[in-house]
This record gives sequence, structure tokens and C-alpha cells, in this order.
Amino acid sequence: MKILVINCGSSSIKYELFAMEGEKVLARGFLEKIGEEGSLLSHHSQGEVLRIKRDIPSHEDGLELVVQVLMDKEKGVVKDASDVFAVGHRVVQGGEKFIEPTLIDDEVIEAIRQYQGLAPLHNPFNLAGIMAMRRLLPEVPQVAVFDTAFHHTMPEAAYLYAIPMKYYRKYGLKRYGFHGTSHRYVAEKAAEISNLPLSELNLITCHLGNGCSMTAIRQGKVVDTSMGFTPLEGLIMGTRCGDIDAAAAIFLAEKEKLSFQEIGNLLNKESGLLGLSGLSNDVRVLEKAAREGNSKAALALEVFAYRVRKYIGAYLAVLGRVDAIIFTAGIGKNSPSMRSAILKGISPLGISLDEARNQNPEKTQGIITTEDSPIKVLVIRTHEEALIARDTLQVVKKSLFDSGRAK
Ligand code: AMP
Repeated sequence: MKILVINCGSSSIKYELFAMEGEKVLARGFLEKIGEEGSLLSHHSQGEVLRIKRDIPSHEDGLELVVQVLMDKEKGVVKDASDVFAVGHRVVQGGEKFIEPTLIDDEVIEAIRQYQGLAPLHNPFNLAGIMAMRRLLPEVPQVAVFDTAFHHTMPEAAYLYAIPMKYYRKYGLKRYGFHGTSHRYVAEKAAEISNLPLSELNLITCHLGNGCSMTAIRQGKVVDTSMGFTPLEGLIMGTRCGDIDAAAAIFLAEKEKLSFQEIGNLLNKESGLLGLSGLSNDVRVLEKAAREGNSKAALALEVFAYRVRKYIGAYLAVLGRVDAIIFTAGIGKNSPSMRSAILKGISPLGISLDEARNQNPEKTQGIITTEDSPIKVLVIRTHEEALIARDTLQVVKKSLFDSGRAK
């Protein structure tokens, strides 16, 4: 049974095709520079890499190419449309309506369209992917899996901003949180590794990639998360500033005579590690530069680590008892020195890092704390697409079962 997972960004498409028996990845790929010159598709399947360089003007053209490659007579891993059981889409913003994965119909599309205003940098592209796949594979059921859904259990105290309540009521202006699928994936994995049900665990999950967010989980349910109304809030990221005094943005806009869009660009695309270092948004580049004596790179990394440490402290206070802290995504999974910098001096709080394990987490099932550390720290690879595929399968099976029962 094959499920195709699609993740459309503003100028890119990531996809993975799963054989659900054993959750085997049959093919995966990345199409970049959509709408620009020199669009490039990198398609991985059966141990081979296929690269196609050709201008791709739109997401629909891009997905048409992806479907062609997947169904290629010689090297394709899909026979025809009937060979795809369902398509799962990552959708960033589900607002207050979508608190679980949802079978897509015209009504759902309309509701996602309504939420475009809440996530103008993401939802329009997710929607473009959905519309294109409906045209390309009209008989195949499509499911939306929302980044915000896992966070819907946050209490009011965590999701409300202290601005006049009428704006929450009028616009839904509140903290939604993002990366929910990744936080849920690693939380479930941590439960599996600990041999305990997730509903008994209190966890702090740290998704540290190009975008970064943290989540406080009590008995398997989210009680707080660091991203807010948009993905800009919270931790320092590759190019996003994270938490900032809103008055600083107003000050800058006035002094530099910046429009709303320009200030949005500055805070989302020119800030974070890139803005602080003036060098790069990539931790690999900054770590190398810091080792070679670049003090701005070292400072950017220090500010990044400090912000994560501060949130760990906050979430320890929110949760009271914590069983484990989990690091995931590009930085969290791959940078022992960043993990070590984040956890520096934190042992009085019950987190005792084992530096040898930190260098080689694979040897200890991802556990990088000492045997007697009251709070465990784990390094887990996230795989959002696998969870989207699992959710998609469940939703479609349930709808088939329900419609069969209705007959
Ligand atoms: P993601 O968004 O999860 O793909 O993470 C991308 C980011 O992870 C990159 O921009 C890098 O900053 C970081 N990254 C990836 N590999 C490494 C590594 N080996 N060491 C440090 N940082 C890494």
C-alpha cells in the first residue's frame, strides 16, 4: 500500500513515497527554485539519484514532473494512479478548526484558504500543492496534516497574548505553535525507547533546524511551545530573530523608514544566526568559523545556545517533573558541541550530560546523559513525513470503514 507525502514550501517541494508495510521509503526527492531560473529536481530511488534541471514555473508543474518521475515506465516505483492509496499533505496553519489530520474535500480546502491570512508565507503554497495533486490524481484520497494540530491542547494561559481580548476573538490572534508533527514524532519515539506510554511522560522536545522550536509536553499533551502566532516567536533560528521586544520592531521601522513588509523580511530572513554573525545561517559554517577564531560566529552560537537553555529552564518550571529532553532536526541531531553548549552548567537541575555519549549517541539508543541522571537527554532523528504517511493511512482507512458502514 503506497502513500505519497507532499510538503510544499514557497519555492520548493519535498516528497516521499512510502510502502506502508514496514514504512519503507521507496522514493524521495526535493525540487528547488520553483518559479526561478534553474529549478532542480533531485530524486532518490532504489539507490540511484536522478537530477533534472529545467525551469519549473509553478508548484503544479513541479508536481506534474514528480508524478511523471514516480510513474516512469522504466525506473518508476509507481505503476499508475491506482497504485497510490492516498496522498498526505503537510499544512502549516490549521487554525482552531483543524486539531487532527483531515480528509480533504471542498469544504476543507475553503477553510484552509480562510487561514491563508494567518500564515501567508506557508499556507498558500501548501494549498497550491493540494489543488495540483487533486487535478493530477483526481481519484486518490488526499489528507491534510497540520503543523499546529499537536499544540491545540495548550491552555489559555500559554496561548493568549496580553493584548486586548477583542483581537483574539476578531482575528484568532493567539499563539498556535508550529513543527507539531516533528514534536509528536520524537515524543512518540522517546516513549518507544523508554518502554512507557507517552501518556505517562513529561517531555521537553527541542526541534533545532533551520527553523527552531521547543515544546513542553505533560502526560503526552502539549502545554506550551515556543513559536507563536507565526513561526517567528521563541528561539533564535537560522534567519529569524525569535523573541524580541515588539517596540524594537516599531523603533526600527521608524528609524530606517521600513514598510511592514520590509520589517517582516528583516526579522524573518535577515536576522537570527545570519544577522548576529553577518556570515551564515548554517551552524556547520559558524562552528568552523568559530574554531578558526571568528568571534562573531562564536557569539552567534552562544546567543543561540543561551536562548535554548533559557527555554529549558522555563519548561522545567512549567512541567514541574520532566522525564526527558529530546534534541532533533539538523542542529539538534548533528551538533554535539551545540548540545553541550546548551546544557552547560545545567547539572544542578538534574541533567547530567555524558560527553562521550554526546559525541556518539547512536551507541546508546540516543541517550546522552549519565546512567544516574534524573532527567534523560535523548537525540532522535525526526521524520515528519513518516508520521504524515501514518496519519494519512489511518484517516483514509477510517473514512472507507465509515462509508462502508453507512451503506
Ligand atoms: P533542518 O532544517 O532540520 O534540515 O536543519 C538544517 C540546519 O541544520 C542547517 O542549516 C545547519 O545549521 C544544521 N546542520 C545540519 N547538519 C549539521 C551538522 N553536521 N552540524 C551542525 N549543524 C548542522
